[in-house]
Amino acid sequence: MKFFLALLAVLCCANGIFGITIISKSEWGGRAATSKSYLATGLSYVVIHHSAGAYCSTMDTCKQQMRNMQSYHMDSLGWADIGYNYGIGADGNIYEGRGAGVMGAHATNWNSKSYGIMFIGDYNNYKPTATQIAKAKELIAYLVSKGYVSSSYTVYGHRQVGSTECPGNNLYNEIKTWANWKA
Ligand SMILES: [Zn+2]
Repeated sequence: MKFFLALLAVLCCANGIFGITIISKSEWGGRAATSKSYLATGLSYVVIHHSAGAYCSTMDTCKQQMRNMQSYHMDSLGWADIGYNYGIGADGNIYEGRGAGVMGAHATNWNSKSYGIMFIGDYNNYKPTATQIAKAKELIAYLVSKGYVSSSYTVYGHRQVGSTECPGNNLYNEIKTWANWKA
């Protein structure tokens, strides 16, 4: 019994030290991109979004929301893939969108110099959960640790770089408290 507990502790903490858990596109049933443009390394910006659609608090429903967004972006808008680099569900999971190193379609004029991280749901109505906030910060720290994002990066809400109410008032008020947010 002690051995199994020790093994569990090793598995738990090894995951924490060596990487983060990201639900891959294939795990949520996403389709491959029809084309890709690549990003430079050491980007200076992270842009926070909300989906402004349905909220989800279970893995199954969050996976469904990722599939719905991807279908909308590809089939109705004619984009190459879901627009965002990553999604964060209120189930506490990080979902891969275009992922690292691939340019998103999330903020006009900012796609080539930023990562787009989207919270699934409408954050004029909902408040981001503590876990969701922790996961977003963990994701950004991971992108910095891998060199995708500069350690001196700036966080903006989408409304700061475009004419939109995204990422919703509750999420915008939250990110304003983050160390790397700038007015
Ligand atoms: Zn947005």
